[in-house]
Amino acid sequence: MNEFKNFINGQWVATGKTFENRNPVDNSLIGPVHEAGRGEVDAAVQAAKAALKGPWAGLKVDQRVDLLHAVADGINNRFDDFLAAEIADTGKPHVLASHVDIPRGAANFKVFADLIRNVPNETFGMNTPDNGHALNYAVRAPRGVIGVVCPWNLPLLLMTWKVGPALACGNTVVVKPSEDTPATATLLGEVMNQVGVPAGVYNVVHGFGPDSAGQFLTEHPLVDGITFTGETSTGEAIMRAAAKGVRPVSFELGGKNAGIVFADADFDKAVAGIARAAFENTGQVCLGTERVYVQRPIFERFVAALKQRAESFKMGQPLEPGVNFGPLISMTHKKKVLSYYEKAKAEGAVTVTGGGVPAMPGALSAGAWVQPTIWTGLPESSAIIREEIFGPCCHITPFDTEEEVIRLANATPYGLASSVWTQDLSVAHRMGAALEVGICWINSWFLRDLRTSFGGAKQSGIGREGGVHSLEFYTELRNVCVKL
Ligand code: NAD
Repeated sequence: MNEFKNFINGQWVATGKTFENRNPVDNSLIGPVHEAGRGEVDAAVQAAKAALKGPWAGLKVDQRVDLLHAVADGINNRFDDFLAAEIADTGKPHVLASHVDIPRGAANFKVFADLIRNVPNETFGMNTPDNGHALNYAVRAPRGVIGVVCPWNLPLLLMTWKVGPALACGNTVVVKPSEDTPATATLLGEVMNQVGVPAGVYNVVHGFGPDSAGQFLTEHPLVDGITFTGETSTGEAIMRAAAKGVRPVSFELGGKNAGIVFADADFDKAVAGIARAAFENTGQVCLGTERVYVQRPIFERFVAALKQRAESFKMGQPLEPGVNFGPLISMTHKKKVLSYYEKAKAEGAVTVTGGGVPAMPGALSAGAWVQPTIWTGLPESSAIIREEIFGPCCHITPFDTEEEVIRLANATPYGLASSVWTQDLSVAHRMGAALEVGICWINSWFLRDLRTSFGGAKQSGIGREGGVHSLEFYTELRNVCVKL
């Protein structure tokens, strides 16, 4: 059994209060998690504040870059430990966690370390009224203590996506992992100590949101900026907390992303792409597709092909060969997803496949399993089409024209991502410009170049991270104007 302690100022801190971390494959207990109270959160923030002025601040950029490379190597050296921890917390199939979560978790440190070494700063020479000259140049200073509040769906990947650039820019961090996935953030503390990241630079506090570590962290007056990935409604609460002291936020929030398939698309690639977008990670990817629009001439054929895909997944223990579909994150989330499955039935949807709980053998029957599910026949006003379910399910609607599908796709308060499948270059570019999203994939999905901007339009987020865009949030830009 594992025990998950807080990591504060380079030390492991137990508290009097614990909650359970459970494995969603069979709902078995992984171990107790020590919940941080106001006192522990304060200690973590104070440590982070002190570290801003300590040996961390004294490092030259090259030394900081080398240290972050060592962190990435440290993760890779303990790849199997990180993999086992992530799999136990989430139930993800081995094939997914070993190809996506852990490698990207390590890569996030390297990418941003290299970026910070190479990024140029702007300069402007100017003429002055006395016929002289002046030179303006930008200096990037770290923002300070960054509060990092994380979700459970890609725990290490999404946490390091923020911690990587934050540390590369010279900040210190206090991380609040999801209560459902405390393990890899905790393990990273061991790596930080092993490779010699100074105490207080990386801190982890465990707990929940309201009236717990999440709220205590985001309300703390010494936190200089908050980066958050999670639900839009949680973002609203965090924004209220950040308003006190006018602290900046960077938000990556919910989505209800459209997958759009034109009749001229490469059919097999479109089916495979939409199947990934709807069902990968058991549908628990913010970029995933729960609304699919298919042009009428290929509608019936597409629905049949996607059904076949949905029914071909292999569920089981994450390490079992061939398993490519895991449980949902928790029994609580299972309840939420199943409530939408019931709602779809009640609203008269045609259930093409799934719609319930699969029969799992032995201990797995106690796990958070649900069937991959496809519906058709609902009106666009349905909650199934409007609300983020965050499960392995999608509704497929036929459409006739480009104008119509643009209108349907944009008719949502969210605006994170979309995927468009067509062989017509002009249609592709027009769609890319017309869809109100942060990321539009054409003939692909979740194809990420970490130098590009990442974030959501409308209620799917505030700000962009990725590449140089991360610098906007993790640094404070100063202009130095020198009269020559
Ligand atoms: P969540 O909002 O329930 O929780 C996220 C984190 O916020 C957790 O650590 C939680 O403890 C904390 N939290 C909750 N209430 C809080 C409060 N009042 N103050 C401070 N912290 C609080 O989200 P989740 O269920 O963990 O993750 C799923 C959601 O995340 C989905 O909506 C999904 O779309 C979104 N998501 C978005 C992206 C993106 O890049 N846009 C990526 C992944 C997930």
